[in-house]
Amino acid sequence: MNIRLATILALSILGGLIKIVGGVLYGSKALLVDAFTSFGNILAAILIIHYYQRSLEPPDRDHMFGHYRLTIAGPIYTVVIYSAIFGIVAMELINTAGKTYVVEEMAPVMAAIGFVVYLISILLSRGVDISFKIYSRFTGSELIESIVTIAASLSGALLSYIIDYIGAIILSLFIVYEVYNSIGNIIGIISDETSREIVMDIEHELNKLNINIDRIRVRRIIEGIYHGDIVIKMPPDTPLEAAHYIADKIEDRVKKKYNIDLTIHVEPE
Ligand SMILES: [Zn+2]
Repeated sequence: MNIRLATILALSILGGLIKIVGGVLYGSKALLVDAFTSFGNILAAILIIHYYQRSLEPPDRDHMFGHYRLTIAGPIYTVVIYSAIFGIVAMELINTAGKTYVVEEMAPVMAAIGFVVYLISILLSRGVDISFKIYSRFTGSELIESIVTIAASLSGALLSYIIDYIGAIILSLFIVYEVYNSIGNIIGIISDETSREIVMDIEHELNKLNINIDRIRVRRIIEGIYHGDIVIKMPPDTPLEAAHYIADKIEDRVKKKYNIDLTIHVEPE
């Protein structure tokens, strides 16, 4: 593991620890919820990056179409982790419901320190490598949560604990939103959606080559990677060599332009 990655990870964990200590010692429920999401976030980000890197491995004997869809493990783990965290946080908030508590002024201070530490880690992760970019995008929402936490715990300390409690509820709803988002992500990956745009573009290319199309099917494997098949018709007396040449040409063009693995089937007109 390189030093930069280790630093990023250490800072993220430190930021989470500062929040948890602040939440427990100084009574802010918002800060406690935020701390839990920080740890969930770190764990999810590590898994997402791990599976993203594995998905780039070339095809092998047991994954003949490549490993692209291994990326789906990322959002699946995110759903599991965030659901577990939501359970913990919801129990904590239910147990606190109706009870008065005191938020000390140190709570927003800890929230602010945690925020700064986290911010440094995210800034460090920018512009390094694609997987770090995933991480920094992922943790961007963590910064918004931090701002909500600081505002809620500060108002909780200065005005009323109820504002802190409402802040904690808002943050826990954000966890539910992340779960919903990740499920959408998973469905998007496995549902074999097509891209109308690409299909129309292929049709256009083939029309330019004067090819008689019988059927086109394209499905998305993951974002930016497609598979498909085309059935084209040719005169029955077309020499095999000529048919093969045309099929090759089509394959080449779409591969270059859209990164599609295309199977071409030729039928007599
Ligand atoms: Zn494999």
